Amino acid sequence: MPEGHTIHRLADTHAEVFDSLPLRLSSPQGRFAESAALLDGEPLVATDAHGKHLFLEFSGERFVHVHLGLYGTFTFGAGERLPEPVGAVRLRMAAKTATGAAWADLRGPTACRLLTRAEKDAVHARLGPDPLRPDADPGAAWRRITRSAKPIGALLMEQDVLAGVGNVYRAEVLFRFGVDPQLPGKKLTRETWDGMWADLVVLMREGVRLGRIDTVRPEHTPEAMGREPRKDDHGGEVYVYRRTDAPCLVCETPVKTVELVGRNLFWCPTCQPTA
Ligand SMILES: [Zn+2]
Repeated sequence: MPEGHTIHRLADTHAEVFDSLPLRLSSPQGRFAESAALLDGEPLVATDAHGKHLFLEFSGERFVHVHLGLYGTFTFGAGERLPEPVGAVRLRMAAKTATGAAWADLRGPTACRLLTRAEKDAVHARLGPDPLRPDADPGAAWRRITRSAKPIGALLMEQDVLAGVGNVYRAEVLFRFGVDPQLPGKKLTRETWDGMWADLVVLMREGVRLGRIDTVRPEHTPEAMGREPRKDDHGGEVYVYRRTDAPCLVCETPVKTVELVGRNLFWCPTCQPTA
């Protein structure tokens, strides 16, 4: 599942590619056909992201709300002419450009629906603060964490506590603060939480900028350590994520993994000791 930085990048890409051009909206697969017809011919007004939710705004405060879920993807393209859609395209947005056409095809999302302003507000209301949003209030997440006996490693993944953080940022920020993922939320100190939030803001903004997740400090990069760069489909240099049994970059203890709330959790038992 993509993490929040991917969705914020998608919001930026839609705004850049389609600018204020009139759009042709269609649903070649059919499941979004009625709503696509209502918006057909209009330009995008704005784009917005909150956690893993993307909003594409059209006139009259109408919003296409997309949640990619596990399998959803957007494919962007540009060329002399619009190609025939391939596969189950839920939503195609296309624009005429100076050199031909630009388009985006959405396939396999968990959600793709047309919302009013009130319905969009309701989506925001049930999400926790997103470190990538300027209006985010880290105190709102703190109030949930400090009252909970659940492990902090689980709380960080709950989108109504904190929005946008997924399996990679969860594991990495806990490592960077030496926090045992099993520590109950209520035992985390406010100081550590404030540090973790500030760190997520920086790391995730970097993720938006580069389109990959890098979490190692300058002294732990491949260049600084004279080691091979990590080879992984998910890209980026990380401390523990998907590094099971590999030596910790800081202390050389083998990285451990355990399933927590249905997802693999990675940590270093030495750098993140049981409190
Ligand atoms: Zn370690």
